[in-house]
Amino acid sequence: MNRGTVSGRGDLNISPVVVDLHMHTSHSHGTADVESMYQAARSRGLAVIGFSEHSPRPDGFVYPSDYREKLARGLPDYLREVREIARRGAAQGVEVLLGIEADYIRGREAYTRDFLDGRDFDYVVGGLHFQGAWGFDADKADWERLSRQERFSAYARYYDDMTAMCESGLFHIVAHPDLVKIFTIEDFNLWLDTADAAPLLRRALTAVRDAGMLLEVSSAGLRKPCREIYPGPRIMAVAAELGLRIAFASDAHCVDTPAFAFAELARYAASFGYTYSCIPIRGGDARRMPFSVHAP
Ligand SMILES: [Zn+2]
Ligand SMILES: [Zn+2]
Repeated sequence: MNRGTVSGRGDLNISPVVVDLHMHTSHSHGTADVESMYQAARSRGLAVIGFSEHSPRPDGFVYPSDYREKLARGLPDYLREVREIARRGAAQGVEVLLGIEADYIRGREAYTRDFLDGRDFDYVVGGLHFQGAWGFDADKADWERLSRQERFSAYARYYDDMTAMCESGLFHIVAHPDLVKIFTIEDFNLWLDTADAAPLLRRALTAVRDAGMLLEVSSAGLRKPCREIYPGPRIMAVAAELGLRIAFASDAHCVDTPAFAFAELARYAASFGYTYSCIPIRGGDARRMPFSVHAP
């Protein structure tokens, strides 16, 4: 998992970005418990540590290797453990936020709304992982069976769903904004050249902005077969042009990856004119956090 030391990405060093809002734990398919992830994040020098465990999903929406039951069982523990660490963190000068990564599944908005209702999350990350009952980011073989045209349709659907996700008003942050490229980045880049893509993409990113949401800039893509930051440069260019605000994310699932490649993320965002990332505030406007492009 950890390619930082070999690639020179410096993920084991102190991060020049002090906020990471996307981390998982062993309550889903992560390999480390809340305490271990907190310690790992602290060791990178993070000042704001956001946990964003997966949310339970409706019946029928399962991955081949699934953790749905475990999630549903472990949720009360997750909530309690993160809140406890938040209290301890506050005494240690570290801000710990209790977030959740909730799936946006078109047509199942009521499920997500019911789940979030009355729960005390500091923020909600919206993740597009499913098209119908297909969890599209799990298995490369699924994509190998698709024709190019079918892949193009999946890319288009992804941005159509992103627009609907933003319009649902349920989320604060868009997770990994081009996850759909994960196994087929060459075709995804071809699709971006098509006449269909630009308006769909622009509509989705405009919806992000108009919903007051933040766009993740995530190093998870660097660890996946696409080997590219989420979102890629062409999407970042449109995001910057539209004035979208960003949030940095590692999508860490193990102790090696909080703040993974954040020096690279900082340089990347800065190259599009960004000087700060944001932290959502419930019921208020996002807080700005300036970042450095130099290691401290
Ligand atoms: Zn995700
Ligand atoms: Zn995630």
